[in-house]
Amino acid sequence: MATVKPNILACIGNTPLVRLNSVTEGIRTPVYAKCEFMNPGGSVKDRIGLPILEAAEAAGAIRPGGTVVEATSGNTGVGLAVAAACKGYHCIFTLPDKMSSEKIRLLKAFGAEVVVTPTVPPDHPEYYVTVAKNIVHDTPNSYFANQFYNQVNPEAHYASTGPEIWAQTGGRIDVLVGGLGTGGTISGCGRYLKEKNPDLRVIGADPVGSLFKSFKETGVLGQGEVYKVEGIGNDKIPGTTWMEFIDEFRNVDDRSSFTMARRIAREEGMLVGGSSGTAVTVALEVARELDDPDKVVVVILPSTGERYLSKFLNDEWMRENRFLEGPATDVRQLLLQKPATARAVISAAGDLSLQKTLDLMARHNVSQLPIIENGESIGSVRESRLMALVLEKKATLNDRVGQYLDPPFPVIGANETVEYVSRLLGRDNAALLVRTGGEITGILTRYDVIKSMSE
Ligand code: PMP
Repeated sequence: MATVKPNILACIGNTPLVRLNSVTEGIRTPVYAKCEFMNPGGSVKDRIGLPILEAAEAAGAIRPGGTVVEATSGNTGVGLAVAAACKGYHCIFTLPDKMSSEKIRLLKAFGAEVVVTPTVPPDHPEYYVTVAKNIVHDTPNSYFANQFYNQVNPEAHYASTGPEIWAQTGGRIDVLVGGLGTGGTISGCGRYLKEKNPDLRVIGADPVGSLFKSFKETGVLGQGEVYKVEGIGNDKIPGTTWMEFIDEFRNVDDRSSFTMARRIAREEGMLVGGSSGTAVTVALEVARELDDPDKVVVVILPSTGERYLSKFLNDEWMRENRFLEGPATDVRQLLLQKPATARAVISAAGDLSLQKTLDLMARHNVSQLPIIENGESIGSVRESRLMALVLEKKATLNDRVGQYLDPPFPVIGANETVEYVSRLLGRDNAALLVRTGGEITGILTRYDVIKSMSE
């Protein structure tokens, strides 16, 4: 049977729900990620492009050959451009000049026209939203997509994303976590899922500096502050945010969001944007609090990380923004601070000859070595002692290293604190082994800790 799709729009949605396995270490409640970054245009916003155009057509607001206009720098532009390309519409996007040239090129690659405006406050005539509205006014057969007020946006998620999550979990979902830009995703999903199960909790992940959380709690719109995570947070409450379906908000700072997004790529193999890091940070917090293997937390990963290769995925950028500096506070951070080439655990099995063991240590420039068999640390050796034994003719180079073992290095978990590590290394232990997910995956020496203190 042929399984050809009629066009790329038919490939939007039905994204997989994938269990997180590593960032969840030590947490008993399962956390499942809804992989919206796998949509054809790379984000959850693909889901609203076509419905917005179809609703405009049905209302007679746009006719064939017309022009779609939106004030957007990001994923909504791509979502609209993908749908417009397939349906033969033209796109014009306005965006402020602080946006990267990479984003402008991306929109142009889909055939869109891009109008760059100066970065000015909302009451200025050249503000990018005002410019977009003026373009609609001056362009015949054009339509303003208006993602922050167009109810088709949350309704699209009520019709697709929400039902998918319900079906994929077989109705076994207790908490939904997601970030909000327009609020469309979490509003539509939250409404659908709460209709299915009124006890389900919906939690919004909000950058520190955004106003969703404080508005929900006080009803007052305070003063927003600048933050670096893109695509989520707001200094006003959009008409597409259905507050009644969101139970609670939690704040996440930029450093935590970016660090988590980087970990999701390195540990889970999923390249996601910074807003996924924000949402997962909250999801893990909630899952830890629930502490129940029979409950389920679902978190939305809205976008691909490919658009951030020169931003938070780049160490230089992270350092410039002071997100990487500072002494580590736990074992995981200590390991991440080691140069990539020094991270692997060099070890030998007990039946290796002394000759080969000494060669191995020289090659990797290490002076001590754990002896690991069947995933267990059974002992350790020091280069100086092995050499002394050979020189004193108490051992030969052909002997098994297993005959000359010192006690094994202590094995610790990745969540242990640096204080604990320092205490163990301050005693007689030259090194510590780190176990994650049942396997020995890292090694820490005194030098690693001292290096981190000097950062
Ligand atoms: N993350 C990113 C990267 C986004 O671009 C968006 C959309 N602005 C969101 C999250 C949030 O989606 P929504 O607008 O549906 O709240």
